[in-house]
Amino acid sequence: MAKKYELPELDYAYDALEPYISAEIMELHHSKHHQGYVDGANAAVEALEKARAEGTAESQVAPIAKNLAFNLGGHANHCLFWRNLAPASGQKPEGALLDAINERFGSFEQFKKEYAATATSIQGSGWAVLAWDKFAKQLVIAQVTDGHQDNHPFGVVPLLLLDMWEHSFYLQYKNVKADYVEAFWNVINWEEVAKRFDHAANKPCPACGN
Ligand code: MN
Repeated sequence: MAKKYELPELDYAYDALEPYISAEIMELHHSKHHQGYVDGANAAVEALEKARAEGTAESQVAPIAKNLAFNLGGHANHCLFWRNLAPASGQKPEGALLDAINERFGSFEQFKKEYAATATSIQGSGWAVLAWDKFAKQLVIAQVTDGHQDNHPFGVVPLLLLDMWEHSFYLQYKNVKADYVEAFWNVINWEEVAKRFDHAANKPCPACGN
């Protein structure tokens, strides 16, 4: 029997990110949207188990597997996203993470500019991601478009995610994505991002050895 995915509890209250992200958005986003991905992933796993038990043809299994990847991607990305958010604390990156940002982007301000441009230029739904590329051993900023997982190869470790699906900002920021991204800088849990960075940059990848 396959294990079930579960909606994680948040480390903060729904209104803890106000005024930058409204309680209304947070509650809907977590309890409805994220829950939807959890339910979708569990339903897909169940469908795969059933198909296996019934000896269903590969061609019929493939769309279920694709559905699982979509929903599991949504679940994973939201788990990472909630944990890289924190109530407004005036935090900034420091230490080795700040050094890596400066080395790659020249300055923290330039990094913010490039990250914001990456986020606001996503066409349709997607995610903006600061990641550690284990192959080049450097930070990269990437767009994940058309869902939750594409353009997200193994060996590239996500550190800081920003949900750019409309459900994450529209109720509060309408079509002004730039204001949503600007607000985001006030509610980042840089300690969590630094933890991810230390792990990604200092522990070899068991798959690729980098
Ligand atoms: Mn979302």
